[in-house]
Amino acid sequence: MRHILFLFLDGVGLGDDDPATNPLARAGLPALHGLLGGRRLLRDTPAIETNRATFIPTDAAMGIAGPPQSATGQATILTGLNVPALVGGHWGPKPSEAVADVLRHRPENIFRALTARGLTAALINAYPQRYFEAVKSGRRMYSAIPMAVAAAGLPLMTADDLRAGQAFSADFTGEGWRTELKYADTPVYTLPEAGARLAEVSRQRSFTFFEHWVTDVAGHRGTVDEGVAVMERLDAMLGGLLAHWDDEEGIVIITSDHGNLEDHSHTHHTLNRVPTVIVGRQRNAIARDLTDLTGFAPAILRYLTE
Ligand SMILES: [Zn+2]
Repeated sequence: MRHILFLFLDGVGLGDDDPATNPLARAGLPALHGLLGGRRLLRDTPAIETNRATFIPTDAAMGIAGPPQSATGQATILTGLNVPALVGGHWGPKPSEAVADVLRHRPENIFRALTARGLTAALINAYPQRYFEAVKSGRRMYSAIPMAVAAAGLPLMTADDLRAGQAFSADFTGEGWRTELKYADTPVYTLPEAGARLAEVSRQRSFTFFEHWVTDVAGHRGTVDEGVAVMERLDAMLGGLLAHWDDEEGIVIITSDHGNLEDHSHTHHTLNRVPTVIVGRQRNAIARDLTDLTGFAPAILRYLTE
């Protein structure tokens, strides 16, 4: 079965080759850099094709003024519509009513489009019980990705899914479920083990999506050193994923909604393009469409349904 693993990184752009401000200029990222033939994810890195991967700098601004934001950027990735153009500008972090309307009602929502065609799709982030309680009570609102999933009638994954090895923790290893969320019985993996699990779980369905929001938080609040650590953890997980990924059967897509982490000279989003990395023998069936955020959903739908 053809399948896609979409590894979404919030707030990672292509910035300067400056180790004082850009964690991506300094971090040791053997898995990512190995995919790119030793090149780093920087503003001046051109589109590259290696034997295993294609790298594309992707425009997140889409002709709309101001720094791109999460709600409109994620909604664009998930629908293929130019959502900032539809709603009158970049918006985030949480969806406005206009963005929510797109996610809830448009047939282009990739989770709805795939399930309407009889294909299987899931968001595999595990959410703790207190998240569901906060949403139910109105204290917390869905961000764009869980909103799109819920609008398609798909369940969000829970602590039980995490225990069953079907869902994934925001920190990949699950340590945060023990230390911060105070669960006593959820699994803990090493980073490479978590990557291997991700490869295995994504074989169960056509479209598997994981949202890594830690990168954007590190861009807003963290130091450069913390940004380096976040990228190095991601890369160690990716090493495990890539060692277990079968390039013949599936495509991995890694991309972001806007820049942030790559420029620690300030704490807000940037206008930089974002790195798109795709892996898999059939990746060039979708690569040409990924020059801006509107290309992902239609390319994914076409690849999985043709
Ligand atoms: Zn942000």
